[in-house]
Amino acid sequence: MPQRRPYNFSAGPAALPLPVLERAAAEMCDWRGSGMGVMEMSHRGAEFAEIMASTERDLRALAQVPDDFAVLFMQGGALAENAIVPLNLARRGRVDVGISGSWSAKSAQEAAKYAQVSAAFDTRGEGHLSVPDPSTWRLQDDADYLHLCSNETIDGVEFQVLPDLAAMGYRAPLVVDCSSNQLSRPFDWSRIGLAFGGAQKNIGPAGLTLVYVRRSLLGEAHALCPSAFEFSRVAREGSMFNTPPTYAIYMAGLVFEWALQFEYAGLRGLAAIERHNLDKAQLLYGAIDGSGLYSNRVAAAARSRMNVPFFLRREELTGIFLTEAKAAGLLQLKGHKSKGGLRASLYNAMPLAGVEALVGFMKDFEHRHG
Ligand code: PLP
Repeated sequence: MPQRRPYNFSAGPAALPLPVLERAAAEMCDWRGSGMGVMEMSHRGAEFAEIMASTERDLRALAQVPDDFAVLFMQGGALAENAIVPLNLARRGRVDVGISGSWSAKSAQEAAKYAQVSAAFDTRGEGHLSVPDPSTWRLQDDADYLHLCSNETIDGVEFQVLPDLAAMGYRAPLVVDCSSNQLSRPFDWSRIGLAFGGAQKNIGPAGLTLVYVRRSLLGEAHALCPSAFEFSRVAREGSMFNTPPTYAIYMAGLVFEWALQFEYAGLRGLAAIERHNLDKAQLLYGAIDGSGLYSNRVAAAARSRMNVPFFLRREELTGIFLTEAKAAGLLQLKGHKSKGGLRASLYNAMPLAGVEALVGFMKDFEHRHG
């Protein structure tokens, strides 16, 4: 089937699967004979209750979220969670943060407004190119939690496995900012206390923020924590303490349905999605490493499957690359403003054919300009 739209490599908000957008468009004015669009429904009505229940059920099935975790549908994005998490969990006022890239550096900065923050490690000096071995991390005995970012969207650095903190003798829970790799691969929930992520990469519209929290961590928040951001209250009220982002939740539900049905290499659901993401990433990194024009300096073991920053060895060609790529139907490949260069984000909705098209374009560009 010919590609009906250009391939969109945005780091977020990112492309959604076309069948999801088409279904949402078909249901925009009248959701399944209700006479209302989803945006027009009361969040407390029977119709939206049905949407909410199926959305949570499908998310739990897809990501294999255990029953002892609450799933919260919140607002404020991942940056708000950088404050909300310490306001809820930093009961002793001591937080460890592993700084593996720009987003975890931001998390450390924000948490420092509410707690004493100590860097378990910090790769700023090397320009965020690797994840140090857990045996070298500096962890405090009395910390409330360790914060990590499982995938650094800007730097292209990903944890391939989350650390087993209990086995390392660390008693506090692991908090994970998984904004840009949630639902791209299975997570080992037994190693996680709380994970959060904005929806706008693998899930749906910006505004919705997913929080997966072990129920045993739900407790008293800091007295100054806004009620709408108290995890225990939001959990108790089924994410309905205040009006949740209803349309974004509905869109997320459509994406979860799509993902559960996703098939690739004889697999289905999250296993298929992971295999597909691995193949896409291998194809692109292979093309970069095999060329004389492109480079990515992230250590092989820490390379992100989701976000691939890369640079032209002849920097002055970057603008021409972007212009020609756009003309070839390859959109939003500009690198983050803090890094420059290029970045291709390969979220779940990016088909292998999109990466093949990018790699074909890169080879042709190198042939002409290299
Ligand atoms: N954390 C990570 C890993 C991200 O990729 C982003 C945004 O791209 C953020 C945090 C900030 O998210 P938001 O803009 O939803 O607050």
